[in-house]
Amino acid sequence: MTSLIQILEQIREAGVPGHPEARLLAVSKRQSADAVAALAAQGQHAFGENYVQEAIAKREALAALDLEWHLIGHLQSNKAGLAARSFDWIQTVDRPKLVTELARHREPAQPPLNVLIQVNIDAEASKHGCPPKQAAELARQIATEPALRLRGLMAIPAPHPDMAHRREAFQRMKSLFDALHRSHPRIDTLSMGMSEDFALAIAEGATMVRIGTALFGARPAPGE
Ligand SMILES: *Cc1c(COP(=O)(O)O)cnc(C)c1O
Repeated sequence: MTSLIQILEQIREAGVPGHPEARLLAVSKRQSADAVAALAAQGQHAFGENYVQEAIAKREALAALDLEWHLIGHLQSNKAGLAARSFDWIQTVDRPKLVTELARHREPAQPPLNVLIQVNIDAEASKHGCPPKQAAELARQIATEPALRLRGLMAIPAPHPDMAHRREAFQRMKSLFDALHRSHPRIDTLSMGMSEDFALAIAEGATMVRIGTALFGARPAPGE
């Protein structure tokens, strides 16, 4: 487990000169509200959660802190309404139906919901995310919804032991992001890289890294 200051230092060191520094999303799934509050007290603002109900409970417990909440876990369509109202960002948009549901349920009084398109960059059968070829069409659909704000792309490459393999996946994501940027010049976020490989992801163009274990230590087992 590494301190927040050390992680921020490692993010800075991994940065590409001339590029804005990558943002840190602290992944707090299965961590307590107290653990989130402790990190918030050190200045961390953005937190990532995988489960809608768990995130809502923490958000309510910590409402006074005014934190930014990102959904990074798979979103079932029947939970889209709840998620649309409860998060600031949804990073796992991967199908047209979800776009429609999120837009329909975002409250008009709320600011537009920030969304990332999740791409299944390694074409893993078991993984969620849209195929790379479908990202442009999904982006077009999102751009027509005033309740949503397209911010960019997200990926969870296969945790391949060979880092060269991971680098190649990050590079394919960066190419896809650059291509999408030509038709959507306001997108600004490429979310990739976790505890094990965030420095590599930043070197290949990540603008946001999602770090859990390295910040909080090992996660408690489910149900603990
Ligand atoms: C859990 C999770 C992370 C953080 O993983 P660590 O290896 O603990 O840093 C990042 N992104 C997603 C989508 C996750 O589910």
